[in-house]
Amino acid sequence: MASTPTNHDDDLESDIVIHEYTHGLMNRLTGGGTGRCLTTAVSGGLGEGWSDAMADWANIRRFLYSTNTAVNRLKYSSLRTSSGVHRYGEIWANMLHTLHAQMMVYNEFDANARTNPESRAGYAMSLHILIDAPKLQLAILPVRLVSLVDAKNALIQADYNRYNGLNRCSITQVFARRGLG
Ligand SMILES: [Zn+2]
Repeated sequence: MASTPTNHDDDLESDIVIHEYTHGLMNRLTGGGTGRCLTTAVSGGLGEGWSDAMADWANIRRFLYSTNTAVNRLKYSSLRTSSGVHRYGEIWANMLHTLHAQMMVYNEFDANARTNPESRAGYAMSLHILIDAPKLQLAILPVRLVSLVDAKNALIQADYNRYNGLNRCSITQVFARRGLG
């Protein structure tokens, strides 16, 4: 599956900066710099698309975020050959990217998912458990730091608490495929 809808980079700031910068660039390059030729719905969509594409192409990570293990081959074991929080973050972010995609595929589509907090669309449920999970992670400062295993287990618990384990199979499959079984 391709990366949707755009690169889910954990370095959100750079994505947004590049996205907004590209708006300014395209507005100046089109129609003699007036920016007035990109204002209706479809041409406005062009502008958003260019900006998202640029943020995606300027990916500063080692691999594009992808559910495809040939496109992004980072696994749990890649921690051993990585160093630094951004490299570690890529491994975790791609697992989350894959989970989000799988939950969207395995659950119903809901056109109102963005505004209905009770939605059972994968889009809505994955966002909910992502925010619920950190509260459940075992973390005892300063002696015990949160591991990827803890964070995965917290997602499973969050799904159990909110959705009675509806997505347990998706969660365990996705992480197992990336070596975090
Ligand atoms: Zn935009």
